[in-house]
Amino acid sequence: MYGFSRAIYRELADDIVEDAQNGGAFANHERVLRACEATVERLATDRHYFARPARTLFNDVRVYFPMTSQLRVLRVIEHYLAMVDDVVSRLPKNGVDVNGNPLQCRSSTRKGTPCQRMPLAHNGYCPSHQHLATTEERPLLRAA
Ligand SMILES: [Zn+2]
Repeated sequence: MYGFSRAIYRELADDIVEDAQNGGAFANHERVLRACEATVERLATDRHYFARPARTLFNDVRVYFPMTSQLRVLRVIEHYLAMVDDVVSRLPKNGVDVNGNPLQCRSSTRKGTPCQRMPLAHNGYCPSHQHLATTEERPLLRAA
């Protein structure tokens, strides 16, 4: 997975603007790389709760790029995060996330403990809890 955050960073690195007053010669490069890693990590482990990853990452890093690069930065981010999402969307069939942790249903039992059942790939809920997915998709669609 870190290959993807490195790839985004490498495509963008030449355009990053550094401000010597603000933490050193490569401080902004570091910030962009960390933001890419955080976004890919979150997309890989928590994609059902991450509604607009490309927009989120772009908003985090756009201040480090000149006006003339903004559109390209957004396109690069969208391109790579779409690939990450595609890879991650195939993973739940194995029963583990990208870090090898067992997947669990996103809901809780009546006792309040996390539901331990295997979730479905398309919505992250187990078969007994998947009705919860339909109630939450409406606000997401409206936002999109
Ligand atoms: Zn469940």
